[in-house]
Amino acid sequence: MNKFKLLPLVFSIALLFVSAQLSFAADKIRIVTTTSTIADLTRQVVGEKADIHYVAPPKQNIHFISPTPKDVLKVKKADVFIHGGLDLEAWRDPLLNAAGNTAFLGNGKASIDVSKEVVLLEVPTSFSRSEGDIHVYGNPHYWVDPQNALTMIDNIVSGLSELYPQDADEFRRNADQYKQKLTTKIGEWDKRMAPYKGETLVAYHKSWPYFAKHFGFNVIDQLEPKPGIPPTSKHIAAVENEMKEHHTKIIIKEIYNESRTPGKVANETGATVVTLETAPGERKDTPDYISMMEHNVSELEAVFPKKASQS
Ligand SMILES: [Zn+2]
Repeated sequence: MNKFKLLPLVFSIALLFVSAQLSFAADKIRIVTTTSTIADLTRQVVGEKADIHYVAPPKQNIHFISPTPKDVLKVKKADVFIHGGLDLEAWRDPLLNAAGNTAFLGNGKASIDVSKEVVLLEVPTSFSRSEGDIHVYGNPHYWVDPQNALTMIDNIVSGLSELYPQDADEFRRNADQYKQKLTTKIGEWDKRMAPYKGETLVAYHKSWPYFAKHFGFNVIDQLEPKPGIPPTSKHIAAVENEMKEHHTKIIIKEIYNESRTPGKVANETGATVVTLETAPGERKDTPDYISMMEHNVSELEAVFPKKASQS
């Protein structure tokens, strides 16, 4: 994490060279979110009332983003900052410190944490990095359970309503409409995934426990020995044995994970590698949360054993 300590210095130098024209649209609430998921859910709540900028490029690993001077300037000028909480964004505090916007520093009043009320998985009993380098407050990849997206929306509504009470009714109306749409989709996804309950999977990173819990899959192991620690040959050999034992035929990776290790394990075990999405905008045809989750469900439908799809 040492590289993050240098960020404020890097930013303050870089900012000298950034044009001050990177401003938000006038007359709108200026919102910066950390991820494209939070940006999309916020958009559903505020509609056209806000100008929303997200920091993490969808195709990059959310844990290891390097915010740009433009991001710093956006945060500096923003009215609201909405983030994923926990240690999902290790770069969050350095970014806020570099921007120096007092509304957000130290969980300032205009900073909204969308993880509130989410029931966390894998919360360690003591603060420790022994279970991995980057999930020290519990698993932060909660948004890929669509049920948690509903909670995130409620957090956005209550945070924004406190800041803009005059718009609270409108935020609630928009949110309820979107939640209804999402709830209908969740019902469809649950139905389509139901035949595969109990299927075993292996993932590259521990990004999927919430997703797996929601749909009833069993992620038996990760290619990373611990979150954020690259695969080792010893660990991969153990994973291959587990996969053979459980007849596991699917390996999930994310777009930014290298392909060599999953490819090698797939060769060894006869499994298929499938790339699932964790950020809207990874592909042109998945610009928002619902299309992203639809893509993930469809990808899995295509690779799960065909016999199960008949039931
Ligand atoms: Zn992670």
